[in-house]
Amino acid sequence: MQLYKRLKTLTANHIKSDRQADAKVPSDLWRKCPKCGTTILTKEFDQYATCPHCHYGFRISARQRLGWLVDDFDEQDSELSSNDPLNFPGYPAKLKQAQGKTGLNDAVLTGRARIRGQHFALGIMDPTFIMGSLGTATGEKITRLFERATQERLPVVLCTASGGARMQEGINSLMQMAKISNAVAQHAAAGLLYLVILTDPTTGGVTASFAMQGDITLAEPHALVGFAGRRVIEQTIHQKIPADLQDAENLLRHGFVDRIVRRQDEKTTIWQLLQYGGGQHD
Ligand SMILES: [Zn+2]
Repeated sequence: MQLYKRLKTLTANHIKSDRQADAKVPSDLWRKCPKCGTTILTKEFDQYATCPHCHYGFRISARQRLGWLVDDFDEQDSELSSNDPLNFPGYPAKLKQAQGKTGLNDAVLTGRARIRGQHFALGIMDPTFIMGSLGTATGEKITRLFERATQERLPVVLCTASGGARMQEGINSLMQMAKISNAVAQHAAAGLLYLVILTDPTTGGVTASFAMQGDITLAEPHALVGFAGRRVIEQTIHQKIPADLQDAENLLRHGFVDRIVRRQDEKTTIWQLLQYGGGQHD
């Protein structure tokens, strides 16, 4: 009994000292790569925020990505935001919080961009804005991006990242898939290039529509790309699915992706591919 009491005290003291130690270590000192498990000191992260071991690209905001992706950017439709069509409880507060955090009015950043004299229309979806979900304002901004690019005869580059349709906007959100796909088809009919870069994660209605309609489809290393989540698939088909089923590398092996590109090489790769796309050059 005495030993038990001592052990109890010892354990309690250990927990206390562990907690005190935890309190002294800032929680943002390091990050663990979710793909290979490597622990990376946050100060070792450069602007690309990638894992030095497996090259996985951590989820970053659209504005952070813009910082290294292009030479010039002229933002458009920045004022567009959702008007909460279903009066969904708690949605306005959630929107406001996401807007404050990302500096965007909705989950995509759109505009005209330039890399080494090559002009194009650019869209970057933001996984940190309500999981990059596709709402009415997101859909309208991407539609306008394609319509404007068709009028101005510009190629489109779109970095996708999404958890799928935005449930707070219900059917209005699902309709964006058809609306954007129509704008993509008109852009294609005009003979213009559409280049997609699939980033982690690209799922749901976005994968089921415009993310898979590109003329050229690139993906970042180990990006999760799929329609339904793993658990939903397994419950539906009553089978375990392979661990790498929705990895970009597996999609490459099966022909859904043309090339895996590291973030550090994206800018040059876009520029090289646009040379073949008949875009405007200075
Ligand atoms: Zn890694």
